Amino acid sequence: MRKGLFISIEGSDGSGKSTQIENIKLFFADRGIDIVFTREPGGTVIGEKLREIILDKELTEMSDMTEALLYAAARAQHVRQVIKPALAAGKIVVCDRFADSSIAYQGYGRGLGEPVSIINGFAIDGCIPDVTFLMKMDPRVGRRRIRAEQQDRLEREQDDFHIRAFEGYLALEKRYPQRIVGIDASRGIEEIKLDIYKKLEEVLQSVPWQISGK
Ligand code: ADP
Repeated sequence: MRKGLFISIEGSDGSGKSTQIENIKLFFADRGIDIVFTREPGGTVIGEKLREIILDKELTEMSDMTEALLYAAARAQHVRQVIKPALAAGKIVVCDRFADSSIAYQGYGRGLGEPVSIINGFAIDGCIPDVTFLMKMDPRVGRRRIRAEQQDRLEREQDDFHIRAFEGYLALEKRYPQRIVGIDASRGIEEIKLDIYKKLEEVLQSVPWQISGK
């Protein structure tokens, strides 16, 4: 029987993921349930090294496929070293961005298409989130919230790249309606939080397995 619970949060930069992750942490803390919060590279030494390469502003010669493979490599390590062991121990894992990000940004944004899904199939090794919150908002609006000097190599891409990635997210939402919960992220922080909490309540009530909170 599957143990643990795997929740991911996705969306454009500046769409409020970090803000709502803080609310998700509070949701579980209020119920006395410990969670494992993670994001790629997930604190793995190998992932950190790969991430340095991926986000380096100097490496303008990087090919799109190299970028996709590096992300997938970092994810493969993160899944095996962090996520799978936590789920096997019955934990709730909350992950800031996961494989859907690659499909959106490298598959749709860079235009690499289906190979990105295949590569990520190897990387995630069957570790598919139970629930994915997708923060839906015009990526141009989200990006205006982020100061230009804080942007890394990918964030510096032009609007059309981010718009294609957002369209990728919408396609994923259509394709996986059971898993992906679309959230209208253009609303106020509290309103969004209530939507997310409602879904989390539902999810907690429906899990047939024992969550190991402590
Ligand atoms: P992400 O993690 O998706 O990049 P953040 O949570 O860091 O996004 O939010 C980006 C900025 O937008 C922050 O300054 C944050 O305070 C602000 N913000 C987050 N959610 C909202 C919202 N619903 N309405 C207005 N501003 C928001």
